[in-house]
Amino acid sequence: MRKKYIVGFPVLGNYYIPIYNFLNNIVDKELVEVLMPNKITDETIVNGAKVSPDFVCVPFKYNMGNYIEAIEKGANVLIQAGGGCRYGYYFELQEQILKDMGNDFIFISFLEEEGLNIKKLYNKLKILNPNLRFSEFCYQGGLAVSTVKIMDDFETYMRNNYNLQINENEFDKIEEEMLNDILKINTLSKLVKFKNKYVKKLKQVNLRKINNDDIKIGIVGELFTSMEPFSSFFIEKELLNYKCIVKRYTTVTYLILQKGFAKKKVMKKASGYIDYHFGADGPETIAHTLELIDKNYDGIIHIKPFGCSPEINAMPILQKISREKNIPIMYLTFDEQTTSTGIKTRIEAFYDMLKMKKDQNYANIKEEKVYE
Ligand code: SF4
Repeated sequence: MRKKYIVGFPVLGNYYIPIYNFLNNIVDKELVEVLMPNKITDETIVNGAKVSPDFVCVPFKYNMGNYIEAIEKGANVLIQAGGGCRYGYYFELQEQILKDMGNDFIFISFLEEEGLNIKKLYNKLKILNPNLRFSEFCYQGGLAVSTVKIMDDFETYMRNNYNLQINENEFDKIEEEMLNDILKINTLSKLVKFKNKYVKKLKQVNLRKINNDDIKIGIVGELFTSMEPFSSFFIEKELLNYKCIVKRYTTVTYLILQKGFAKKKVMKKASGYIDYHFGADGPETIAHTLELIDKNYDGIIHIKPFGCSPEINAMPILQKISREKNIPIMYLTFDEQTTSTGIKTRIEAFYDMLKMKKDQNYANIKEEKVYE
């Protein structure tokens, strides 16, 4: 028998797995089916862009593609999480477009004028389980946030150390197994076991030391393109193929648990360049760039969707920093018309330039030593 509610939600990197798990743990399974979303493909963005206004940024278009795919699989409840930039104004438009296409569904948006709190979130999601107790909702919510935090910690560790693995692909295998295991977590004790299991596995991976000639690249910029690899043409994997050491700051853990507390620190770090917070992750982009320079990174890649105003505002400041601190910064903008060949060519050229710069610096240092 067909369930009363079939729930679809958009994809963002691997986070769709703990989100699916959380929803599945709180719904009334007699009444509701939660759809595991399809991973993003070319078709997702093509379908999303077809029905979206040209001027909106690509996260809107990707989400529309996700919603269309969910509706095709039978979804009649769609969830949108809102956002701290103009994304927060998008949900009404998304709902209207999908309804104008003839679809009948309930649209749950987490956006609230006076801000979302746990009680409001509970009330919104109660439609999926009228008997859901508030205490159980809080328990599962806490479990989901803790799962995301642990997943982010593991993924950050693997990204930072990917090219230090002595045996190739060990992290890939661990990650695949880890993502499957997340689906089995529905209690705190299972989460603790999960954490212990993967701490042990990650510790067993043999790593070499960082060499002076390793090229270190930091990625800064807009959150969706930072966290959804398809939208940035898998830029991290591409850089890792060049055996670079790669760092990025933006994760869901950072956004929901750390960003609020880090605001003062961010503004202090960026204070020579900005006086006010200009929205979304723009100031973070400036502060993180300065931090990467302090940590002797060789180059920085700034990524953003076409038309993303907070990141467009950050760009002239980054250009100034690049000139003043003599640090190469490459700017990449993504939309549905960007091609992977163009991105790959630019990454290759950027890497070659950083390598030549680094080799030249070492040659100069050696030469200075000879004449000392
Ligand atoms: S941060 Fe920029 S690209 Fe991302 S949703 Fe907001 S405006 Fe769009």
